Amino acid sequence: MIADKMKNMVANSSAIRAMFEEGNRLAQIYGAENVYDFSLGNPNVPAPDAVKNAIIELLEDSDPLILHGYTNSNSGYEDVREAVAVSLNERFGTNFAARNIVMTVGAAGGLNVILKTLINPGDEVIAFAPYFGEYRSYTNNYDGVLVEVSPNTVDFQPKLDEFAEKITPKTKAVIVNTPNNPTGVVYSEETIKKMASIMEEKEKEFGTEIYLISDEPYRELVYDGVEVPYLTKYYHNTIVGYSYSKSLSLPGERIGYLVIPDEVTDSGDVQSAANVATRILGFVNAPTLQQKIVARCLNEKTDISYYNRNRETLYQGLKDCGFECIKPEGAFYLFVKSPVEDEKEFCAAGKKYNILMVPGSSFACPGYVRLAYCVSYETIVNSLPKFRELSKEYQTK
Ligand code: PLP
Repeated sequence: MIADKMKNMVANSSAIRAMFEEGNRLAQIYGAENVYDFSLGNPNVPAPDAVKNAIIELLEDSDPLILHGYTNSNSGYEDVREAVAVSLNERFGTNFAARNIVMTVGAAGGLNVILKTLINPGDEVIAFAPYFGEYRSYTNNYDGVLVEVSPNTVDFQPKLDEFAEKITPKTKAVIVNTPNNPTGVVYSEETIKKMASIMEEKEKEFGTEIYLISDEPYRELVYDGVEVPYLTKYYHNTIVGYSYSKSLSLPGERIGYLVIPDEVTDSGDVQSAANVATRILGFVNAPTLQQKIVARCLNEKTDISYYNRNRETLYQGLKDCGFECIKPEGAFYLFVKSPVEDEKEFCAAGKKYNILMVPGSSFACPGYVRLAYCVSYETIVNSLPKFRELSKEYQTK
């Protein structure tokens, strides 16, 4: 019999699996080109050529025993960590060294490593709705308690008054995700400054450490020149979790890193514990070949213009049909207001037109649906007449 704790997890994950299976089923009946699957955040811009070249060069030039071996440190190759630190310093004016970097198995691996490192049973982890639903599971993995700040549906910046009220002596961590999945919103510098001062005050008031975990797999995916503040500069106890899944289109390769700056309280202990957590969670180390690849591709970028064209076309098309949504500044998601209160009903109606959308309740924000526009441009263009038909059911226009 499976563990009690897993029973809920299995029940919850079946909804996502069901959607995936539904996409495949519809594709078999109607042909993949007639299915408008906006459910998955899987990049569809190929990885830059530099990735392929780096793989070939590495395979040809390196000692296979080293390239495919365990790394000597569970935190990753020293030269890779050094290269990541130097690149961050150049871009953000920070002062990191190799000791501040832990290579991870994507952002998901990094989040699990840092939560394992920090969380005692019963500790509270705050997240701002709407948020990536896995935060709840990851927190639960370490018997932490996820505390939600309710969504601000005006502009989807975090509700800071409610945030301040929800911080307690048990608050150990706060997770922010900007650019955000599922809204595409970038938290403004003003928001970040206010958030930092609230956390500083609360640390003093309670005599506790409150760590800010910046989950930022979408950092590089921003439009119209929007700046994404680098959070370590605003708050001393910030830990960054980064991933190459979206920025280099390598989600299956499972590679990213954590930044644990020296300014973090007990930074040496946190860095050592993250190293041990990487090992004992069973990751052992981030994939060695992938570490070497990304170190050679630190200046590479995905083709943001591809996603931007999708963003503009889908956003305008949906507005023209009378749907309400705010224009995303980053990531590759649109968060659309459901024309009926129960957004699951709206998702079900979408399926009649072969449109697949994810209900906002998966992100703790019912009444909305998420569309992942990391699909082909044809899918976007061809979906618009279907959205129009769907809109007529609700007389949005
Ligand atoms: N965090 C957020 C907000 C995400 O959207 C995702 C993936 O979609 C992840 C973390 C996990 O990313 P990774 O593939 O790097 O583990």
